[in-house]
Amino acid sequence: MAIEHIEQTTVENFAEQVNGQVLQPGDDGYDEARTVWNAMIDRKPAAIVRCTGAADVMAAVDFARDLDLLLSVKGGGHNVAGRAVCDNGLMIDLGEMNGVRVDPKTQTARVGAGATWGDFDHEAQTFGLATTGGIVSMTGVAGLTLGGGLGHLHRKYGLASDNLRSIDVVTADGELVHASEDENPDLFWGMRGGGGNFGIATSFEFDLHEVGPEVLAGRLLYPYEAAAEVLRFNREFMADAPNEVMCYPAFVQGNPGAGHPEPLHGETLLVLLVTYSDDIAEGREVLRPLREFADPIADTIRPTPYTELQQSADELYQEGHRNYWKSHFYHEVSDEFIETVVDHVDPMPSPFTTVYGNWLSGATAEADLDATAFPHRDKTFLFTISPKWTDPERDDELIEWAQEFHDALTPYAADGVYMNYLERDEDERIREAYGDRYERLVELKNEWDPNNLFQMNQNIEPTV
Ligand SMILES: Cc1cc2nc3c(=O)[nH]c(=O)nc-3n(C[C@H](O)[C@H](O)[C@H](O)COP(=O)(O)OP(=O)(O)OC[C@H]3O[C@@H](n4cnc5c(N)ncnc54)[C@H](O)[C@@H]3O)c2cc1C
Repeated sequence: MAIEHIEQTTVENFAEQVNGQVLQPGDDGYDEARTVWNAMIDRKPAAIVRCTGAADVMAAVDFARDLDLLLSVKGGGHNVAGRAVCDNGLMIDLGEMNGVRVDPKTQTARVGAGATWGDFDHEAQTFGLATTGGIVSMTGVAGLTLGGGLGHLHRKYGLASDNLRSIDVVTADGELVHASEDENPDLFWGMRGGGGNFGIATSFEFDLHEVGPEVLAGRLLYPYEAAAEVLRFNREFMADAPNEVMCYPAFVQGNPGAGHPEPLHGETLLVLLVTYSDDIAEGREVLRPLREFADPIADTIRPTPYTELQQSADELYQEGHRNYWKSHFYHEVSDEFIETVVDHVDPMPSPFTTVYGNWLSGATAEADLDATAFPHRDKTFLFTISPKWTDPERDDELIEWAQEFHDALTPYAADGVYMNYLERDEDERIREAYGDRYERLVELKNEWDPNNLFQMNQNIEPTV
């Protein structure tokens, strides 16, 4: 139902019940609040409520449910499919709820659902603590964690969601419940990998680990001609690498913003973004074979503040670009896969386009397979094609480029897809994203949200 059809006084009464602002089209701040990271998304909610706490979220859920309004939830606004924002419904904006409270004694953090990983790391690193978080500092803690949560530390400490102790959740009934191993354990299981299907998380409690303040990290940069050889070596190296090692192989276009020297501007380059998240001297030894293999154009690996590592991809992923993502998981990185990548990646279609891989395994694979709803612990590698551009006239060209590249890789891919990377034209892959957890998740959905109030997500449809 569209909110325009509701009496203005109803909206005004709602605004009186909440502490945060209620914005309607034309209000100052409305356009800013409805803007998300992917500039392809231009949706117009009938109203936006900028919640300041769980009480506002409870009132907003009651309001949307009682008036049968389409409801969306914005954490950090980074979902590529723009699921945070709806047309003609109510958008709950959690951005004001971005407090992070670290308890250094218990090594835990209580994190508001509007916090970004930049907010999280700023507080936790003050005490030399961290947990697995996203590799771009503006990404929301909420959406990333509810979908699994990969980052520089997941091979060492597991997924972001593996590090959760508890979540506060507003349910479809507008009640606030606590989910942990001891309270509502089924809900806790489902919200660690099942996304926003079961309720609105208002805060998260995380375990923290001693990390930094410096870690050994940096980039190895190679010319496109060396790409196949480097990727093959990277595969062998990662097969035996200790869990402290993370490495993102990424193809980028040489550009001045990334500090690439002038002759490389516009050239397709391969970067290995490498981290060793424990003792620095030990890390130098462990990383030696990787650094000595081939002859990189540049090697910037050095002791690096952890917060700097966590912001090191921000430039490439800045807001305002048009984006389209395609990704697959892989059980193995075969020679044929590598050849297909190298055949398709050059020339890259635009300056900020990235095509990158992400090694799983380590602690992610070692965790109890059934501990959470995340179903992809058996996968080795995640590979994502992510063109970025600014001119809307290039939409079809760049989307087709990604689709053709992705289709060429499909024969080598494993089943399943990472739900946090699903595009808006990939609803038919949603079931795959939940793998063998799907039936149990449907049961949970039937129990916690039988009327599918929470449907602006990678939706699990109830069957009741
Ligand atoms: C630049 C960039 C970098 C990324 N890097 C990583 C990475 O390193 N690792 C990784 O695993 N993923 C990464 N992602 C993917 C990311 O995990 C998803 O885009 C995720 O949805 C972002 O969370 P958000 O809170 O910013 O999203 P939003 O767009 O605000 O929300 C997305 C969806 O999450 C759900 N949601 C959000 N908040 C809540 C809540 N409080 N309660 C219930 N449901 C909620 C809703 O369904 C919502 O539609 C990245 C994305 C981008 C754009």
